[in-house]
Amino acid sequence: MVKICCIGAGYVGGPTMAVIALKCPDIEVVVVDISKPRIEAWNSDTLPIYEPGLDDVVKQCRGKNLFFSTDVEKHVAEADIIFVSVNTPTKTRGLGAGKAADLTYWESAARMIADVSKSDKIVVEKSTVPVKTAEAIEKILTHNSKGINYQILSNPEFLAEGTAIEDLFKPDRVLIGGRETPEGRKAVQALKDVYAHWVPEDRILTTNLWSAELSKLAANAFLAQRISSVNAISALCEATGANVSEVAYAVGKDTRIGPKFLNASVGFGGSCFQKDILNLVYICECNGLPEVANYWKQVIKINDYQKSRFVNRVTPAIDVCKGLLGDKAQISIYDPQVTEDQIQRDLAMNKFDWDHPMHLQPTSPTAVKQVSCVWDAYEATKGAHGLCILTEWDEFKTLDYQKIFDNMQKPAFVFDGRNIIDPEKLREIGFIVYSIGKPLDA
Ligand code: NAD
Repeated sequence: MVKICCIGAGYVGGPTMAVIALKCPDIEVVVVDISKPRIEAWNSDTLPIYEPGLDDVVKQCRGKNLFFSTDVEKHVAEADIIFVSVNTPTKTRGLGAGKAADLTYWESAARMIADVSKSDKIVVEKSTVPVKTAEAIEKILTHNSKGINYQILSNPEFLAEGTAIEDLFKPDRVLIGGRETPEGRKAVQALKDVYAHWVPEDRILTTNLWSAELSKLAANAFLAQRISSVNAISALCEATGANVSEVAYAVGKDTRIGPKFLNASVGFGGSCFQKDILNLVYICECNGLPEVANYWKQVIKINDYQKSRFVNRVTPAIDVCKGLLGDKAQISIYDPQVTEDQIQRDLAMNKFDWDHPMHLQPTSPTAVKQVSCVWDAYEATKGAHGLCILTEWDEFKTLDYQKIFDNMQKPAFVFDGRNIIDPEKLREIGFIVYSIGKPLDA
């Protein structure tokens, strides 16, 4: 029986391994992590992350051929294929701080693999890493290899948070990069055999190592670029009276462009786009390509610009509601999928400053106190001067906006940062409405 071990039971490691276990009953899969609470959660009825369908997949194979453990060394030593899916955040200090990927977790995982292995291993990069990482990992593993053969593969993950299980069941593509040597090809084939349990052959792409590593960064950069492109157009729409939804529809009808990922919004958030583009910028700079670095930097700059444009739109209305956080507004937040801890942590996170890369700007503790989190959209808007819609949850589309209007202070403003509500319907109720990229209230 082939044995797989995955180091890192996070957002990627957990769901990916659960799906491999479900689709490959002939393979034993053990997911290991240094975090005891995380592993306890994976072994409980309350999994550490929420993804539609995940509970069901885990329930079907946990205890049969899927296991979660903190006994990292034992399971790494026993495995034939080791996925490494540890976090690779942006570096906060040292060379490349604020841009380069922090590979500390990866490095310590690689050193541990080298220390405990007694048989040949295929080591798979599942984390998103800079191009050429495999070269550094190879050096660590083979430095004192005691005759063990290590093959490094790059197998980046393209799942999106919120649709992880669906993406893993029916991936657009599975990408596997390996060395172009007989051993390298054998390792690529071994990983192909795993995915071939459920992924059609024409969707499994094989490339050289560096192409696979770079493809993940390139894919995220292209997706983010599309968001920044439509957001840049939304600013022009507001200045000219064009409607960004109409423009995006017309542009997306061109089959060379296509309709997906063309919704104007307050910009991209989440954990990956910004971090991966910063990483790409850093790699370009390190390879003596400042013009290319500047090109990708602009995607983030437009994203920051879009966010600040939105805040500035809200701010004039704060003649009434006295400004956002910086202007000492009281903010009440409701998000059906995010805990108060996560919100407070995100608020306390540092913002990257291109002009002063070493200068980190933490949110002040006073500002954090101005935020309260509630568990109902009606509660959140009670007594408010303005309502900002910043995420696209379906329930926000079907709220009783008349009820919300009745409970808000007047004049009542809506700032729709995702363009999910028909502005005319809101105006009929009595709201003053600002929707990204659309003509303003008369
Ligand atoms: P995560 O922070 O949710 O999980 C990483 C886990 O690795 C943590 O539980 C941590 O405790 C564990 N870990 C760190 N060092 C370890 C070690 N030495 N031994 C054992 N466990 C260790 O991160 P994630 O969201 O799963 O992301 C993992 C990687 O996948 C990142 O490189 C990320 O960029 C990439 N990625 C993420 C997504 C996403 O949507 N989250 C999508 C595609 C790719």
